[in-house]
Amino acid sequence: MRLGLLSGVGVLAATAIMTGCGSEPPPVVKVDAKADAAARLKATKEAKVRNAAKVRANELGQIPVLMFHRVIPKPQTTDDRTPQQFRADLERLAKENYVPITAAEMVTGKIDVPAGKHPVVLTFDDSSPSQLTLNAVGVPQKDTAVAIMREVAAKYPGWRPKATFFVTRDLFGKHTREEQAQALLWLKDNGFEVANHTRDHLNLRGLTQEQVEEQIGSIAKTIDSLSYTKPVTISLPYGSQPKKKDWALRGKAYRHKGAFLAGYTPAPAPFSKSFDPTGIPRIKVMEKKGDCAQFCSEAWLDWLKKNPDMRYTSDGDVNTVAYPKFKAPYLRKSFSSLSLPY
Ligand SMILES: [Zn+2]
Repeated sequence: MRLGLLSGVGVLAATAIMTGCGSEPPPVVKVDAKADAAARLKATKEAKVRNAAKVRANELGQIPVLMFHRVIPKPQTTDDRTPQQFRADLERLAKENYVPITAAEMVTGKIDVPAGKHPVVLTFDDSSPSQLTLNAVGVPQKDTAVAIMREVAAKYPGWRPKATFFVTRDLFGKHTREEQAQALLWLKDNGFEVANHTRDHLNLRGLTQEQVEEQIGSIAKTIDSLSYTKPVTISLPYGSQPKKKDWALRGKAYRHKGAFLAGYTPAPAPFSKSFDPTGIPRIKVMEKKGDCAQFCSEAWLDWLKKNPDMRYTSDGDVNTVAYPKFKAPYLRKSFSSLSLPY
């Protein structure tokens, strides 16, 4: 009885409040709040512009996407790096204020790097055991690529172990589904991207659309069934594009936001008009010698250091695209709502 009465009162009170709200004119204070919010927004934007200018942010600048293969003590081709070389490659990047992002983060424009720093994308092709081998409890074996990335991250604050692994059916040399799943899930759980490098590593250039879709789609299904991941990016074997470039991005079993090549320059920012998702350049990691005198990593990192205005520098805000006003004509239209020229 008492309970019933109480809840009845509650309903009445609530009705009165609701009626009260509906019948009053809109409070004046709301208009002020709107003006305040606009003023606050303007002040915030001005502060963002000042910060961007202070660090000379250039989010229309170029990003080095580095291409690694095996990390082995006795290199057999110029694609291989020794553990010592690989460690030195990463340490140079850390010292020169690069911060790793994944290929997926790059192509989707989620470039979350502190103000004044530069994104770099580390990519590994062919899923060899030298990149990832785990012991029985999931600890990476010494001198594998993932182990070295973690060591360097521990040594250099601000550096992080982040990279993209473009895998084929080799799946890090694992043969049982359970071991293959362990490898892919470990990568996923530790912030690495698992992406597509086709099933059999054929040159896609001479293949029919059906064959291309089979090569890309079948490994996409394997990756998804093992690790519940739909790849966002692909690297093309030998850097060869299929007859129609779009076949690499879209097929019945896959949707990619970017296809990566095998050479020979830094890549345009995804916010730049020069960005082409069907063919994103990468840089082979090599010293300045022989074929690599000009177009491999040492030469390009030297060039980016000498030409800081050409390099991508972050403003530290993942939700804006900041750049010197002079570069405005290069901004892709689809990003104009995020633009922060200074
Ligand atoms: Zn390959």
